Amino acid sequence: MNNLSDIATVKEILTRHGFRFSKSLGQNFLINPTVCPRMAEMGGAGSGVAALEVGPGIGVLTRELAARCDKVVTIELDKRLLPVLGETLGDFSNVTVVQGDVMKLDLAALFQREFAGRDVIVCANLPYYITSPVIMRFLEERLPIRSLTVMVQKEAAQRLCARPGERACGAVSAAVRYYAEPKVLFSVSRGSFMPAPHVDSAVIRLDIRQPGDYERPLSETEEKQLFRVVRAAFGQRRKTAVNSLSAGLSMDKANVIKAMEQAGLPPAARAEQLTLDDFMALSRALFAEG
Ligand code: SAM
Repeated sequence: MNNLSDIATVKEILTRHGFRFSKSLGQNFLINPTVCPRMAEMGGAGSGVAALEVGPGIGVLTRELAARCDKVVTIELDKRLLPVLGETLGDFSNVTVVQGDVMKLDLAALFQREFAGRDVIVCANLPYYITSPVIMRFLEERLPIRSLTVMVQKEAAQRLCARPGERACGAVSAAVRYYAEPKVLFSVSRGSFMPAPHVDSAVIRLDIRQPGDYERPLSETEEKQLFRVVRAAFGQRRKTAVNSLSAGLSMDKANVIKAMEQAGLPPAARAEQLTLDDFMALSRALFAEG
């Protein structure tokens, strides 16, 4: 197979298949030859490892994963790309293309069927219109993966990986940090894609926290309470956490102030200043029995 990062090759394949890019499916294909090998390497692809990809496009990253991993499963929604992938991945016997919507497929069943007993990484250049929902789905469903290495818009990368105190820090940053250790790996300019999007991108890696990594694992109820608190605290960005929490949780302000005190937090704190541990302590205090 010719080089799938080469613009002339990509155009030739797509023209031959009568393919036209769909903006609504977030189809911006990578044409910078250095990006996919770097993503695969930094995402942990290697022997003894299996990879799940979302949105293979014409298979440029899929090939890098297939060359390194024991097995690759790649989920593509656009049926028009199936014959293209049949051609571009034809020389690999360790790749399975699953046609479907990553947000609708039963991923737990897919993992059981395709990856039982394997060490799995997720590596993908995500369609940008569903970046956060896809990432949160993998995290919240606790799919058995080691890490997620994904290309996202630069602003999304900053939000997803933000630390407490940083401007970009929001509810999604806290949620990601609960499930994983996030890290921005490298930036990718808009000119690396065909067609070029209007914004730059970045590759991030989320190393999933494994059961033993939690000091005290939360029960399902405690987890739900924690995320209610996080969402409420960030609900009204210009307000103090106390005001946002009182409004978002429909709780008496005096009770919220008391819970802040119990959690050892100053009453004037803002949500973006609070660490995950702070949120956990606050959630415990807010929902304490009695
Ligand atoms: N991996 C290729 C690359 O890097 O050149 C293509 C990446 S492109 C940004 C996103 C891909 O995701 C497209 O192939 C698009 O058709 C596919 N896609 C869009 N929505 C999807 C969904 N809901 N489920 C699965 N694939 C989807």
